[in-house]
Amino acid sequence: MKLYNTLTRKKEEFIPINGKEVNMYVCGPTVYNFFHIGNGRTFIVFDTIRKYLEYRGYKVNFVQNFTDIDDKMIKRANEDGITVKELGDRFIEEYYKDADGLNIKRATINPRATEFIEDIIEFVQELIKKGYAYEINGDVYFETKKFNEYGKLSGQNLEDLQAGARIDIDERKKDSTDFAIWKKQKPGEPAWDSPWGKGRPGWHIECSCMAHKLLGETIDIHAGGFDLIFPHHENEIAQSEGRTGKPFAKYWMHSAFLNVDNEKMSKSLNNFFTAREVLQKYDAEVIRLFMLSGHYRTQLNFSEELLESAKAGLDRVYNALGNLENLLDEVEKEQMDSEEKEYSKIIEGYKEKYIEKMDDDFNTADGISVIFDMVREVNTNINRNSSKEIIKLALNLIRELGAPLGIGQKSTKISLENEIEELVNKRQQARKEKNWALSDQIRDELKDMGIILEDTPQGVRWKKIN
Ligand code: AMP
Ligand code: ZN
Repeated sequence: MKLYNTLTRKKEEFIPINGKEVNMYVCGPTVYNFFHIGNGRTFIVFDTIRKYLEYRGYKVNFVQNFTDIDDKMIKRANEDGITVKELGDRFIEEYYKDADGLNIKRATINPRATEFIEDIIEFVQELIKKGYAYEINGDVYFETKKFNEYGKLSGQNLEDLQAGARIDIDERKKDSTDFAIWKKQKPGEPAWDSPWGKGRPGWHIECSCMAHKLLGETIDIHAGGFDLIFPHHENEIAQSEGRTGKPFAKYWMHSAFLNVDNEKMSKSLNNFFTAREVLQKYDAEVIRLFMLSGHYRTQLNFSEELLESAKAGLDRVYNALGNLENLLDEVEKEQMDSEEKEYSKIIEGYKEKYIEKMDDDFNTADGISVIFDMVREVNTNINRNSSKEIIKLALNLIRELGAPLGIGQKSTKISLENEIEELVNKRQQARKEKNWALSDQIRDELKDMGIILEDTPQGVRWKKIN
């Protein structure tokens, strides 16, 4: 298996440090609000990568943190008149609702930064002791020039960074590129006791500390959105490698942005949709198919059109699954005959193709194409003359290959009912708008599916005719 390592800027063979066990740390959300579907892309991407690693036989220890103390948290808690802890509790709960809604598997551990304050203080002390950090009047800074390899992840050198950072000069720091790892309490801010007085941790040290504490000195994969390469991950490397003298992560992975009109979806640009809003309109499987239809290192534009086309693609998958399930009830022949045994190699060949694509830096776009090719294949060549055995083989394989991506995992019955409900609602809307042509067209469409409608005083009812 190969994956692209941001650190070396190359696709590399994936060889975990500890055999079949993978320690993976993904930077999680700051829990001051609902997450938007741009954050959702990153969560879905790394959920898929984790599930695919598991599919390939790895045991994945998956840690994704919650940043529950920072400027944004403090500001929002003050606005709402609640404590930062209460705000964190609330939006962690909301995070789980939306992440579960997107069929994101729960992490092995979701640590909260504020639960690691003692360890963070110890981390800061170690850095001071080793000469990488200095305290000035209650604030502690990391001294970038002490870490020789500063800039290696983002491919920048310290001089360029210094030139770029001059505008943001802070008199207390020795150098403009030094960054805070412990922040002195400002009036009204939550704070913890420390050897440097009351204060709170900086953002970067939280992740260094939690990754170290929960997964060890050198982890296999450290991941996050593309915007985290600099400064967040660059600073994490400086802190962690400064402390241990060992590589912090073997592989660094970054997923590209979800854009709106070619601009990053973000809270600050106010061009975002919350995951929750999008989930009200589209099924999680549709959203996942849309997100994974592009490679994770390629930017993707959020558009209704693309979501609709994902929906149509997913319908094709469920139609095939539904047909196969019906055939399974209908056909008599149990076992494959010799001709079918030969043919089954074609079916199994899709698994090989899928693995080949996904093993190549998690190329979900091509992996999805393989599933669509397989759907086309079974629609053409599996029929009433097929055996139960080959039908089951095809059915299980479509579900198996869809699993890491999170598509084709629902019962076809539920999916069909949803589709009918949706068409019935669409027809109601058309009638309200006096669009009789569309309303008749939908009625015919439903009839073709074996569904008839009854207009009753309580509204429209539908039933199946056999
Ligand atoms: P935040 O809560 O802003 O720290 O973001 C949580 C995660 O979402 C980080 O890994 C970010 O890199 C990622 N992220 C933020 N905006 C986007 C976007 N528009 N597209 C993809 N990932 C994003
Ligand atoms: Zn982080």
